[in-house]
Amino acid sequence: MEILPGIHTIPGVKLSKAYLIEGETLALVDAGLPWHGRTVLRYIASIGRKPEELSHILVTHSHPDHTGGIYRVAKKTGAAVVAHGDDTRSRRGGGSTLGYMGIFGALPVPMPFLGRMPIVTPVQDGELLSIGGGIRVIHTPGHTDGSVCFLDESTKTLFSGDTIFSDGTRISRSVPFFGYDDQAYRNSLKRLAGMDFDAVCGGHGSPLLDGGAGILGELLDARPDPPTWGRFLMSMPRRLRRSLPLTGEDP
Ligand SMILES: [Zn+2]
Ligand SMILES: [Zn+2]
Repeated sequence: MEILPGIHTIPGVKLSKAYLIEGETLALVDAGLPWHGRTVLRYIASIGRKPEELSHILVTHSHPDHTGGIYRVAKKTGAAVVAHGDDTRSRRGGGSTLGYMGIFGALPVPMPFLGRMPIVTPVQDGELLSIGGGIRVIHTPGHTDGSVCFLDESTKTLFSGDTIFSDGTRISRSVPFFGYDDQAYRNSLKRLAGMDFDAVCGGHGSPLLDGGAGILGELLDARPDPPTWGRFLMSMPRRLRRSLPLTGEDP
């Protein structure tokens, strides 16, 4: 579904969000859970484009709800998988693959799809990727060490992963998670609020189409402290009753 000129959300990718940037070539931002790889490929076909036209898979961070579908999509399309080095780990035999933070790395059970990740092209803060009018990499550590936002400079659209979310009108911050760094997170948000973007396409929730940086600045002024688990859990009954998003902070 095209939400802004050349920017699509991929229907059927549930729980988290995947976005397709459509121009001369295609770029994907995140890829949902393992079974969403197929959903992404089907969507590309449904808008009349070919799998080979996908040049990049941009990874906002390494959590499995955003990266599970990458294996299938990368294999079929040959797209470069782009992520920040701090969310990768070295692979035996050379190169690096996506690395999983905190609890995911510590789980005693084998998670087969995690072992089959393609080699990653590491990117750094400030890099400009030649996708469409240019996509800027902004390193925003906090949610994970290697969390990045991707700023489409020509449309002023920020792909923010789990660093910030939107419900379509507001912006909210993520609750602490395993591997979370509070100080880094606060610094990243301050930095983002000083940037120039209108739309916010977050890793969960509904995209915000206008006013992004200003709305983030207002949130930081009104509530300087990010949400806590206590507040998050207390808001749960109300969220469920009113079908509010189960991520981010109390509305
Ligand atoms: Zn996450
Ligand atoms: Zn997430």
